[in-house]
Amino acid sequence: MQDSHDENDQNNDKDNSSTFYDLWEDIKKDSSSDINQELLEEIPEEDFFKDDQSRDYNIKIILAGDGAVGKTSLRQRYLGKNFSGNYQQTIGSDFAVYEETVGSNKVKFIIWDLAGQPRFNEVRKVFYQGCQGALILFDITNYSSFKNLEHWINELWLNSTKGPLPFIIVANKTDLQELGIPSVSKRIIQDYVHKIGQETLKRYHFRVRSIFTSAKTGENVETAFKRLAIQIIAHTRYLEKIRER
Ligand code: GDP
Ligand code: MG
Repeated sequence: MQDSHDENDQNNDKDNSSTFYDLWEDIKKDSSSDINQELLEEIPEEDFFKDDQSRDYNIKIILAGDGAVGKTSLRQRYLGKNFSGNYQQTIGSDFAVYEETVGSNKVKFIIWDLAGQPRFNEVRKVFYQGCQGALILFDITNYSSFKNLEHWINELWLNSTKGPLPFIIVANKTDLQELGIPSVSKRIIQDYVHKIGQETLKRYHFRVRSIFTSAKTGENVETAFKRLAIQIIAHTRYLEKIRER
């Protein structure tokens, strides 16, 4: 089931032209930041869409992360399918369309679910084109899948045709933590996300956030997709405003 993790460690190879690695190097230099709970709060959906005309959006998103972290399970759970305990590796990619209401907006998600294994590295790149945001997953019981977040963020930013894109870090398999299975600590995760979030807010005007989910119990699955939609819509509007000036 977890055959891919050794291979995934190779994903740490750095690429000189990368954007996220540059950002991350700067973040590491600034060790002064500490956790501020307030920054981890939800965006109040109603406030965000106040006084706003409703619009229809087609949003192309990517599910990224190491093999076996739960990308396919999360997508299927979101689409209302039952959780399957069997691991069926995604070959290349798979996609689904789902309509959602966010605030007063109609959002049509085009969800690309990519194979995380390194042997699909070349195939995967094509799917980032035109993508507007991503859910980047790791498995809280698998530390190397957490370490590899950097690789996935970098891959997203390097291959998207729209520059640094909003994404949400999804800490999946919370049900296992509740069973007492050792996991990456909440504090480490929140600290990491907080640092990235502060920097992306400063530089790109969106704050990266995290969400804890379980594709098995369904906890926070819908919220993860909705929050990403909010981030993407906010970012799209921000870019439109900039262009109008
Ligand atoms: P992918 O390779 O990222 O698409 O991962 P899959 O969705 O195929 O899931 C890999 C394995 O992890 C499967 O055996 C799933 O049943 C299991 N899995 C996925 N999400 C969860 C979760 O939230 N909790 C638990 N306990 N298992 C999960
Ligand atoms: Mg899959």
